[in-house]
Amino acid sequence: MTTTVQAGATSAPAAEKRGTTPAPWAASALCAQVDPELFFPEIGGSSAVTARRICAACPVRAECLAAALFEEGDCAPSYRHGIRGGLSPRARYALGRRKRPNQKEDAA
Ligand code: SF4
Repeated sequence: MTTTVQAGATSAPAAEKRGTTPAPWAASALCAQVDPELFFPEIGGSSAVTARRICAACPVRAECLAAALFEEGDCAPSYRHGIRGGLSPRARYALGRRKRPNQKEDAA
């Protein structure tokens, strides 16, 4: 199955952080039913585990992850925020790199 992503489309917690409008699929997102701060854990905080569990059961996880990878492009992990599509910023970065194998290594 192919997942189509609108430019700028995003999950409810990410949209709330940015002050933008969530994507239509975000209406079915499980994160819309809980505290969005769960999806932006402090470093070393435990809410990331809870967020990932919620994402694992989310019916729009594929759309969410595709939107995150589209929006974040080749940004370094430090420019990515929160749990999206069940993945941490670092995990999304790694996944994005696997999808773009010809990209050069970061200097950092
Ligand atoms: S996968 Fe997670 S962050 Fe994405 S919409 Fe679903 S619950 Fe929200």
